[in-house]
Amino acid sequence: MCLPPSPPVSALLDRFGRIHNYLRVSVTDRCNFRCVYCLPEEGVTWLPRQSLLGYEEIARVVRVMAGMGLRSVRLTGGEPTVRRDLPALVESIAAVPGIVDLSMTTNAHRFASQASVLKAAGLRRVNISLDSLDAARFARITRGGDLAAVLAGIHAAIEAGLTPVKVNMVVMRGENDDEIVPMARWAMAVAPAVQLRFIEYMPFESRWHQNVPAAEMRVTLASALGELVPVTSKQGGGPAKHWQIGPLVVGFIAPITEHFCATCNRLRLLADGHLRTCLAHEDTPSLRDVLRGGATDGELALLLRGIVGGKPAGHLAEMAGGTAFEGVMTHIGG
Ligand code: SAM
Ligand code: SF4
Repeated sequence: MCLPPSPPVSALLDRFGRIHNYLRVSVTDRCNFRCVYCLPEEGVTWLPRQSLLGYEEIARVVRVMAGMGLRSVRLTGGEPTVRRDLPALVESIAAVPGIVDLSMTTNAHRFASQASVLKAAGLRRVNISLDSLDAARFARITRGGDLAAVLAGIHAAIEAGLTPVKVNMVVMRGENDDEIVPMARWAMAVAPAVQLRFIEYMPFESRWHQNVPAAEMRVTLASALGELVPVTSKQGGGPAKHWQIGPLVVGFIAPITEHFCATCNRLRLLADGHLRTCLAHEDTPSLRDVLRGGATDGELALLLRGIVGGKPAGHLAEMAGGTAFEGVMTHIGG
């Protein structure tokens, strides 16, 4: 009988047997946008600078986790490009033995001038948020974003070779759901340098009615563009499920209606050093005080093993009446 390979002895395993080899690092909670699905218009206070993890502290967590099987790191935020001297962080993470994939999620507003420097520092890939192709609507959704600057950021990413550039659209009913088809047409024009993914809106503020299920998005696409065929071969290591529409492959990330908790391999290091084992749960121990309290790498590894061991099975978000996700997305990093 052929048995699956056993996980390495030191792997970050939870009690459900899930191996954690992917870390999202929120490098700042600050952002130059205030997207309607992510940040409230007012009332959010930024973390004081001294409570943010320093670059050396982030790199140390990555190094200790890499010794426990971590392979992929994604920088996120808030908006990672607003934190000063980001290439220095990229360089130090890229140099950690074992890290084979270093990527970033950005709104790309400032990216055109940063793409080549970040690539040279060791960034491999980039995901860019783009929720509308209409400049006025884009400005409204992001509360002030400039569509032209973001499109320039996408082109700079392609030029710099940060490919495949994945473009993410969060679909919200009544906000931009009428742009699902135009966005797919745009993606057909810019493929294969760009790969489009539709993301289901996660209701951080109990706006359940604005979630558009991925299945509904697929019906909309099929009625305008023809049959969607599921892609069975694995496309990347993430939670997106892919479908072929004519020449185009699009991804769907559906954390609500087609959630992927059973295969979750992710951990999230928040800007202030809290470690979230699940996006939807706020109960997160802080690594910052441990790091600043003089813990050895061995003690840190032991702590990490305990935290990951206690990871919940999944989130309880179900349509209409489920529990809303907890916290503020810019703090958590998506
Ligand atoms: N500022 C960067 C950006 O917008 O790409 C990175 C941080 S953002 C929090 C990371 C990802 O979370 C983005 O793709 C964003 O669209 C997504 N996101 C934020 N709030 C969301 C929500 N309520 N539901 C689904 N996705 C959300
Ligand atoms: Fe900022 Fe990204 Fe949140 Fe928009 S989605 S407010 S760009 S962190």
